[in-house]
Amino acid sequence: MSLILDELHHRALTVPVQELTWKCVNERGIRLWVRRDDLIDVHQSGNKFYKLFYNLQAVRQTAHQQVLSFGGGYSNHLHALASAGYELGISTIGVVRGERPLQLSPTLKDAENWGMKLHFISRASYRSKDNPLGDDGLLASMRSIYGDFFVVPEGGANLAAIRGAAVMGWAIQTQMQGAYTDVCLACGTGTTMAGVIAGLPPSKTVTGFSVLKGEGDMGSQIAKGIQGLVNEKTYQDSESGLAKWRLISGYHGGGYARKLPEKLRDFWSNFEAETGLMLDPVYTLKMFWGISKLVQQNYWPPGSRIVAVHSGGLQGRRGFQSQADFEL
Ligand SMILES: *Cc1c(COP(=O)(O)O)cnc(C)c1O
Repeated sequence: MSLILDELHHRALTVPVQELTWKCVNERGIRLWVRRDDLIDVHQSGNKFYKLFYNLQAVRQTAHQQVLSFGGGYSNHLHALASAGYELGISTIGVVRGERPLQLSPTLKDAENWGMKLHFISRASYRSKDNPLGDDGLLASMRSIYGDFFVVPEGGANLAAIRGAAVMGWAIQTQMQGAYTDVCLACGTGTTMAGVIAGLPPSKTVTGFSVLKGEGDMGSQIAKGIQGLVNEKTYQDSESGLAKWRLISGYHGGGYARKLPEKLRDFWSNFEAETGLMLDPVYTLKMFWGISKLVQQNYWPPGSRIVAVHSGGLQGRRGFQSQADFEL
C-alpha cells in the first residue's frame, strides 16, 4: 500500500527538529532532539493541529456547518478548534465545564473572539457527557439550541485524531532518517501517543508521560486506539509498523491543577534558563521533568538518541502567569 502524502504530511515536514543542549542529559552520553510542533501553527498549536486535521476534513466532507466539542477553561483543544473554525469558516461551539466565570480565562476569551459559542454546563452534566445513559440528552438539548453539528469528543480523542497523530510519527522517522532510538511525548488522553506509535517502525520505543493524577485506563485506550488505526488500514504500510511503547506515570505534578508543586516550578524556570526552550505548564513541562528523572535513574543507556515532542500548549502559560504566587 502506498502512502498518500497530503497537506498534513507536507506541513509536518516543515516542523524544526532541534538538538537540545541540556547538561543533565548530555553528561550521561545521551543526545536529545526536540520536535518543535509548538511552531506548526501560530494558534492551532502542537499536537492539536494533527488531531484536528482529519476531523475538520470530515466536517467538510459531511457538509456540516458547525462543530461542537468539549473542554475546560484552559483547554488547548478548544483554543485550537476555535482558531481553525475561524480560519475555515466553520462555526464552533465549545461546551465548557463549570459555571461561566465573571472573568473569562485568556483561552476562552480568544475562543470567543474567534466566534466560538461557549456553552457552560455543570460539572455533573459534564462528567456524564460521554455516558449515553447518563447523558440526560445533552447533545439533543444542544441540537435544539444550536441546530445540527459535527461532534469532536473531549480532547479530540477519536480515530481521526489518531490518524493525524500517526503523521507526526511518520515525520519523525522521515526527518531523523531513522537515526534515533526513542521518542518521548506527554499524554493527556493518549490519542497522540497511539498515533505516533502506529506511525513509527518497530525498532523504536515511545515513552509517554501521563499528566493524569489517577492511573485511569490510558494504557488500554492507547492499545485500543492503535488497533483501531490498524483495522482502518489507512496508515500501515510495509515500512511502518508498531513501535514498542511504555506509559510512565508519577510525573503528573498535580494533574490539571492550576498550581504546581514548588519543585516543579523550580525545574521549569531552571530548564528554560538553561535551554531557552519555553514549556507549557500542563504537558511539556511534565514530560521534560520526567525525562530528567528517568535519565538520572539510567533508564536509557548511553548512546541513546531521543526525540522529545514539544506538543505546544504555550497559550496555557497565561493562566499561570496571572497567579500572584507564580512568577516565571
Ligand atoms: C492536548 C495536549 C497533549 C495531550 O494529548 P493527548 O493526545 O490527549 O494525549 C499534550 N501536550 C499538549 C501541549 C496538549 O495540548
